[in-house]
Amino acid sequence: MLQVREAWKEAVGLLKRVGVVSPTREARLLLSSVLGTDPSRVHLFWDFSLEEEKLKKLHALLKERARGVPIQYLIGEWEFMSLPFYVEEGVFIPRLDTECWVEEVILSLKKASARELLLCDVGCGSGVIGLSCAFWVPQVKLYGVDISERAIALSEKNACRLGIENRCSFLKSDLFEVFKGQNILFDAVVSNPPYVKTGDWELLPREIRFYEPREALLAGEDGLSIIRRLLLEGASWIKKGGLLFFEHDPAQSELIRKEIEKLETWEYLYTIRDYAHKDRATAVKRKE
Ligand code: GLN
Repeated sequence: MLQVREAWKEAVGLLKRVGVVSPTREARLLLSSVLGTDPSRVHLFWDFSLEEEKLKKLHALLKERARGVPIQYLIGEWEFMSLPFYVEEGVFIPRLDTECWVEEVILSLKKASARELLLCDVGCGSGVIGLSCAFWVPQVKLYGVDISERAIALSEKNACRLGIENRCSFLKSDLFEVFKGQNILFDAVVSNPPYVKTGDWELLPREIRFYEPREALLAGEDGLSIIRRLLLEGASWIKKGGLLFFEHDPAQSELIRKEIEKLETWEYLYTIRDYAHKDRATAVKRKE
């Protein structure tokens, strides 16, 4: 039988050999998943022997990882805005860069004095954006929409995990379609829509292309097909003075500014940069 420490060393070696960027971190994450403990507690098991069954499970996970399956899908959860979320194959994996602008959204929502804030997360995926806003800002009542049924089910599961399901509804919908005929206007809308150009698909890392859902990434020839719809259709679903925050590619920043000017329904507020100091999200306000 192998000690946990030895199993970890073996895992680090293998992950290094297959070119994983953070082998020590990933080895810890895989071990924590096998041991059923938090990653920060793995060292408490250092001198324990790893049961045969668990070692087998670790080897199976390492094999999958070596094939290129994203670590998030293997361990089945990921942290976003300091909160734990389930993730699963078929649903877009939350990105660190998204946190940069979601932090700003949370700050703006916290400034609002209304007793209730209606928030819509368009293309919610695993629900991380809307749910972290709802978790950190108790006045938020969240509607999450997505065309993928898997995403809706996962978002619901995540709302329950955070214990805020009574303030959250998730609906299968193509953007705002499901609200047609309803008398609803949002205080704010947030979205990490697909924004990759069709022609850039081949340039994406294998790990993304082979395992993440295409419909969460691709958005036509210039990657702006969904963002254009968000700006156009969103205007009918956001209160005057309400906010729209959405993620995009840094190279799309200028084009988006032009789209905003063309429409005249939005006041451009600011652009938010990611950890690489690149323009990653834009904030606009529905004109009064
Ligand atoms: N470039 C982003 C990524 O792969 C695309 C995300 C998106 O389309 N929303 O992480």
